[in-house]
Amino acid sequence: MLLQQQDLGAAYYSLQREEILERIARRKNELRDNILILCHHYQSQDMFQFADLTGDSLKLARDAAAISDREFLIFCGVHFMAESADILAREHQKVLLPHLHAGCPMADMATVGAVEQAYKELLSVGIMEEETDMVPVTYVNSSAAIKAFVGERGGSVCTSSNGEKVLAWALNKGKKVFFFPDEHLGRNCASALGVSEQEVLLWRRGERLGGNSVEQLQQAKIVLWDGYCEVHMRFLPDHVRQWRLREPEIQVIIHPECSHDVVSMADQYGSTEAIIAAVAKSPAGSKWAIGTEINLVQRLKRQHPDKEIHLLAPTSCQCTTMDCNQPVNLLWLLDNLAAGKVKNQITVEPAIASLAAKSLEQMLAIC
Ligand code: SF4
Repeated sequence: MLLQQQDLGAAYYSLQREEILERIARRKNELRDNILILCHHYQSQDMFQFADLTGDSLKLARDAAAISDREFLIFCGVHFMAESADILAREHQKVLLPHLHAGCPMADMATVGAVEQAYKELLSVGIMEEETDMVPVTYVNSSAAIKAFVGERGGSVCTSSNGEKVLAWALNKGKKVFFFPDEHLGRNCASALGVSEQEVLLWRRGERLGGNSVEQLQQAKIVLWDGYCEVHMRFLPDHVRQWRLREPEIQVIIHPECSHDVVSMADQYGSTEAIIAAVAKSPAGSKWAIGTEINLVQRLKRQHPDKEIHLLAPTSCQCTTMDCNQPVNLLWLLDNLAAGKVKNQITVEPAIASLAAKSLEQMLAIC
């Protein structure tokens, strides 16, 4: 969802990097009792150095809500993360995004309109008699509106670390599961649970019944929305093969948003937090090829000079939308706050927020 970012003014763009960083540090100190800066692992180091809290999206949202005294939560991440923070925030807290174009293309691939249309089609051919006949599960990388859709129908959110557990819970209900928006996380979790390929069906956006026949849908256990992360899709089986030829001792670890072909070749896969932990606990001299966003890989490289750390792909795999949050945007946001002006606030309508909270609570209950 593209929101309109206000013009910062030419003066901001003529500032040198050092001056911007220095002014952010001063503003942060001046506003320290009232702001909390949260930074996702995929932000650049220039942003990351100002973080009070770091982590993946859900950890950040939960940690921020636990710190009740700060009014402004400045979320250096993407739009859906700021929405989750707003859902979990206390009433007096406001969530601000440094640049409104920082969105997640994968989250935008599942709109409520398209998902409602899919449900209508499934009802029309008798795959469902009522909407609760399918258990919806959504990856946390989805809009608040999708989380609300899922919450209203008794489903759950999942993350890249608990996807298998949540999917197992959904399958145990004895109904079909509709998984949004990431095909690959869904497929990787299904495979880890031993669900056969024939029982997992892809729903292609824009095609009637997702491009499937009624018979195929009847036989399916899990239907996967065909969303994907354009960053993690850049890691290919050939990259794994090439590293193994070049460095036979190398360990390949990748994020489960990568395609199943690549995940099945890796030594390990897991969430950003799991990747960080695996590298941290490995002995000095370990060699890693990591399949996730480049800012995180470069940070791990700096943090572990005693280990050999490489990006799995030869090309730069950067989350360019998250990178819309530049230090100059953070400075502009803080300057405005210092002047008593609240910019770029992300709010979720109360009705949507309470249904979305249900799907988040369901996940916490499962895990
Ligand atoms: S890395 Fe991929 S899934 Fe994560 S925010 Fe960027 S586009 Fe979205």
